Amino acid sequence: MELFEMESMSSSQFDPLRLKKTTWNGYKSGELQLHCMECPLARVLAILPKGSRIPTEDWGPLFQWFGPSASGQPWRVFWFGSTVLRKFPSHGAVAAEHLNGGYTQACSTRGIFIYRMEEATRVLIHEMLHAACLDPPNETIPVREATVETWAELILVAYRSKGFLGKAEQLWTQQAQWVADTNERAEKGHNVRNNSQYGWRYLNGRAGVYASLGIALPEPSKGPVPKSSRFTHPVLGD
Ligand SMILES: [Zn+2]
Repeated sequence: MELFEMESMSSSQFDPLRLKKTTWNGYKSGELQLHCMECPLARVLAILPKGSRIPTEDWGPLFQWFGPSASGQPWRVFWFGSTVLRKFPSHGAVAAEHLNGGYTQACSTRGIFIYRMEEATRVLIHEMLHAACLDPPNETIPVREATVETWAELILVAYRSKGFLGKAEQLWTQQAQWVADTNERAEKGHNVRNNSQYGWRYLNGRAGVYASLGIALPEPSKGPVPKSSRFTHPVLGD
């Protein structure tokens, strides 16, 4: 709990909206509730809105899939359940407040910090890849992030399809269109064109990683531009 509180107060470049602090204050005032989950591989502490709970049946098998940490210490997850959604700004650059929902240290069990309800499972997979030392070596930070994010999305699609190939195809079709459409909005609306723009590492950088895996993305839809800047289609859940 000490680390949880300390981290709630610390400012982070990834959390400029101070969603962690707001959530912690909500817990202190009794508006939000503390939950915990413990299994041999992991411990999760979470501050969540009333009526929400840690999706144990969802996250338990994910920890099993990653297996024990290199040090043998359990994975530690601290989840600040802010309900603030990811949205593209009306104009200007796409920045951390429009995109990020978690952070951790590479190759470490010190803690995975998640600070939104939205896409919490996708963020957990993304941060577990970092914590489990699975970043591609010898790459720049934007390429590492784009690679880890792409794999997190592929793992989420596989996980949500529960072994059914037809379901995987259906979910992937929706996700691929979502990637194409959010990338299009980032590029055309917010000038995200290369890895010198922050949004590239989570959005447009994915296109090159998918291409390197031989996975083609569709053309962007002709319909209205997306307002949500979440990374995955809502059908994949939070
Ligand atoms: Zn990352």
